[in-house]
Amino acid sequence: MLMHGQTAPKADARQTPPWWAAAPLADAAAHPEVGLNPAELARAGGYVAGRPRNDFVAGRVLVRVLAADVLNRAMPQGLEMPPVLPGELELTQHCPQCASTSHGNPRLQLPGRGQGFSLSYARTAGWVLLALAPGNDLLGVDMADSSDPAFASGDGELLEDYAFAPAERRHLESLAAPERRNLRARWWALKEAVAKASGDGLAGEDGIPVVAGDRRHRLLGDQGTQTIELDSGTPDTRGNLLPSSLLGSIVWAPGATA
Ligand SMILES: [Zn+2]
Repeated sequence: MLMHGQTAPKADARQTPPWWAAAPLADAAAHPEVGLNPAELARAGGYVAGRPRNDFVAGRVLVRVLAADVLNRAMPQGLEMPPVLPGELELTQHCPQCASTSHGNPRLQLPGRGQGFSLSYARTAGWVLLALAPGNDLLGVDMADSSDPAFASGDGELLEDYAFAPAERRHLESLAAPERRNLRARWWALKEAVAKASGDGLAGEDGIPVVAGDRRHRLLGDQGTQTIELDSGTPDTRGNLLPSSLLGSIVWAPGATA
């Protein structure tokens, strides 16, 4: 498939998986020069002062820092292409359903360089995860903390009933407790990643995305969709590892080319 505007296909443009990076929120303290845009500042004001607001701000700072670092590793640099600075990245939005720019999936723009990227990020248990892909690809990431008591075993739990479809529940019930706990966390991250990539959200028409069995979300059944599972044994684009309790998912599919 050719990307929009290309006269000749770039070699393997479609085979290159998204770039991704993860870092602890505490890393944001090393980047006091990176600021948020007005929409983000307004949103920060809606968080309770202290830890919740600080974590939100740190997350958005790190999204820029990590994105710039990842782009600088991925893209050739030279006289015409000086290194990308976190402060020059613009975070915007694009709705895959109605093409609105006032809501929808995050996008990253490099002003003056004529390039846009699909972007997705998540903040869990003091860490930020982000993924980037050139163009208009559908992209969603999330991570879950498998040590969270919400994923622990028990009978008739609320999360189980609310979050998992019958086929998923049957499979989870067949597992020993540690595996069940891990898979609950892994599937939860995958559900969020699908919800983000599709633009449907968790409260979409079909409810929380189903990720296993015959009734799984249409995006997961599409031929072009790739799912990348992240854990403490999967180095990110910068060579860093997630802590052992965090499990992540990246869902990525070719987007509209027009
Ligand atoms: Zn929309």
